[in-house]
Amino acid sequence: MSAIAFIDSSKYPFLVDIDEFIEKKWPGLSLVELLLYNAAGILDKAIDNIKAIALGKTSLKHSEGTESEVISFYATMLLIALTGNKWLLDRACLHYAKRSAGSLIKEPPENIISIALALGVSISYSLSASPRIPINTRRGSVVYKELPYSLPVEQYLKYVGRIASDPKYCLVNQIISSGKAYIDKETLVRVLEERMFEYLREKFKPIEECPIQLRDVLEKVREALDKAGNVNVEYSLKSKEVHYINELYLGRISGKFIETAFPPCIMKILESLKKGENLSHGARFTLAAFLIKAGASIEEVLELFKHSPDFNEKIARYQIEHTAGLRGSRRSYMPYSCSKMKAAGLCPMEASCNVKNPIVAYKRNLSKIVGEKPRSPAKTSK
Ligand code: SF4
Repeated sequence: MSAIAFIDSSKYPFLVDIDEFIEKKWPGLSLVELLLYNAAGILDKAIDNIKAIALGKTSLKHSEGTESEVISFYATMLLIALTGNKWLLDRACLHYAKRSAGSLIKEPPENIISIALALGVSISYSLSASPRIPINTRRGSVVYKELPYSLPVEQYLKYVGRIASDPKYCLVNQIISSGKAYIDKETLVRVLEERMFEYLREKFKPIEECPIQLRDVLEKVREALDKAGNVNVEYSLKSKEVHYINELYLGRISGKFIETAFPPCIMKILESLKKGENLSHGARFTLAAFLIKAGASIEEVLELFKHSPDFNEKIARYQIEHTAGLRGSRRSYMPYSCSKMKAAGLCPMEASCNVKNPIVAYKRNLSKIVGEKPRSPAKTSK
């Protein structure tokens, strides 16, 4: 790889050293002073950004010019950090990570490698020596998928983050050779999106105490958010949970589940397991399948099964991975249907929850909390 990387800072503003940047453009001033003076409309732009992020109205568009983009990004993140609101901060990190990933996918290899390096990820690129996977045939010729990017396995595992339990990104489904994971551009960019999200979360933490000179500025942010409706910087714990569940429900967070939305049958099995009772095969299977469909990671399910009196990590891991479709037939199983649960004595309800499968009851319960229609569960094979 000999081409020189050229990184457009407006697309990855978080990689810019803001102090150096301001010193070059506005010598002697700080970001706080620029906000106080609303220099170049920076405060107005930041407030617009915050409203859009809070209301989920953000798009992948960038504003005009590197200078405006970099400064408005830092002003936006500083003001959100000053609200002390973790939910809003996470939402902003998610937005900027997604937006940058949308740009990253269009970048040439030398830029991707350089951006990854700035994020602490060492990537190699080689088209000539890359593994190829046959995926189709066309006019008698085999069509291959190239895997020109590689990174050390330990880095892949470290940065795959929240999507580690997704079969598309989990390590067992990648090509591994000499301690490296070989992946295509789409997979790499998705992993780097996770890395950008974590990078932003590390960089911007909630600031509990607002500096006196910025109190009026922060008040303007609060007023703007109040006027926007449905948004209040002082979220109660409950409303934060609702937004979190919303993200979970929409599939934006993986590897997590909400126990309070579990139907009675699953709660009963889970309680028995936590008490150290020996579960039947049907109860174990349906609990594992349910948790995986609800978004739990393999590690989380494994952790729960450690309560089982006959727990054997190797066997339990194999069975959970098999249920998740990562082994054997590679089919991801649904939990038992309600009628099968009743027949197996696993349904504690006299009547019924008016669903055909416990996972549908879970989605319905989540949807009641977030006030949206449930999405169909994934296709079943059991
Ligand atoms: S009706 Fe279905 S979802 Fe409800 S408790 Fe029974 S098995 Fe579970």
